[in-house]
Amino acid sequence: MTMQAEIITIGDELLLGQTIDTNSAWIGTELSNIGFDIHRKTSVHDRREDILDALESIKDDTDVVIITGGLGPTSDDVTKPVLCDFFNTRLIPNEEVLTMIRNMMKRRGFTLNENNRRQAEVPESCRILTNAMGTAPGMWFEKKGTIYISVPGVPAEMKYIMSDHVIPDLKKRLSSQTIIHKNVMTYGTYEAKLAEILTDFEKALPGNIKLAYLPSFGVIKLRLTAKGDDFGKLSNIINEQVVKLYQYIPEYIFSENEESLEMVIGRLLKEKKMTLCTAESCTGGKIAGMITSIAGSSDYFTGSVVAYANSIKTDLLGVQNELIKQYGAVSEQVVRMMSEGARKLFNTDYSVATSGIAGPGGGSEDKPVGRVWISVSSEECTVTEKQTFSNDRSINIERFSRAALNLLRKQIISK
Ligand code: AMP
Ligand code: MG
Repeated sequence: MTMQAEIITIGDELLLGQTIDTNSAWIGTELSNIGFDIHRKTSVHDRREDILDALESIKDDTDVVIITGGLGPTSDDVTKPVLCDFFNTRLIPNEEVLTMIRNMMKRRGFTLNENNRRQAEVPESCRILTNAMGTAPGMWFEKKGTIYISVPGVPAEMKYIMSDHVIPDLKKRLSSQTIIHKNVMTYGTYEAKLAEILTDFEKALPGNIKLAYLPSFGVIKLRLTAKGDDFGKLSNIINEQVVKLYQYIPEYIFSENEESLEMVIGRLLKEKKMTLCTAESCTGGKIAGMITSIAGSSDYFTGSVVAYANSIKTDLLGVQNELIKQYGAVSEQVVRMMSEGARKLFNTDYSVATSGIAGPGGGSEDKPVGRVWISVSSEECTVTEKQTFSNDRSINIERFSRAALNLLRKQIISK
């Protein structure tokens, strides 16, 4: 049986959208990594009745509840008294916590005040989880077979208490359940199509393996999750499924685990000792930004021309004015000349060029918003590709860039 967990995050700032609830994302990742099934997360206001309601709604079969927030020294933080009511206990001063707070305040040159003293009061029935990063300790309760852990909302404090006390302890209590994730990265088709191609693959998956589709700007991550009690066996089963995936969708897979397109390109160019430059109109340097986000990219990336104005396309990249007049800047002819011009200018093995209409304005009947022409040039050949995406400017720029990186990747591996 998989252990079940729930997360409750407390704080009106989370509901108003002023603070993004990163705590539950972090806790979800950590707990699932050690084999928990997280079946619900709830965010509530710092109000007594809302917190109590969330606590009372916990399912009977939940093994662990992680609660964050509302443990500060100010009057808007009400979690501790509510926990006392829920666990039918009372607040008592704790000498150990008081000493820790006193020492922490002393180091920072402050003196203890009434609010600090209140932080050293803890529910009588809980186990204290010391907090080396702040003044509010974490608390461990148990009730009717369920463990409840309350930690501060400050992400660094929450992470410290979870990593130092909670996760190691929970790990010991878990059965020998193991979870393995394997991510296969794809590009080149949409989610519904991929699912159609993989219908038989999914049907034939062993019962303890699940497949999830996680799309992001054209890249679809296929996440395989295997659960069982024998790590070696699980690894073998999941690896067999990855091999099978390559048989179903060889043209779409570009890497495994979290390797992005720009990482793959960096790895390939390094292996081949080859160089790259970009000439970007509609992507405005985004592709160069993605390439240079990879450490060590100076080994293969030389530079970029952000050729936004036509005069830059002609004067720096050598695109003929007549071509722009005849076909328009967003055209196969122009983008081809941009990539060839950039490769000469930077003297590289490869170049990538983009010219498109990111929107929201500037579209026409035959050149709609979302249209992009991409070109990759190398010594042997220059290839071009036309794609049409959405109406959203920022999404288009992301998608244009990934489309260009994928065309480049295909050219590099075809040699
Ligand atoms: P609290 O423990 O409620 O006093 O929270 C202290 C600080 O941590 C506040 O600045 C919150 O915005 C931040 N915080 C609280 N809960 C979360 C959460 N779930 N994710 C990220 N930050 C949080
Ligand atoms: Mg708060």
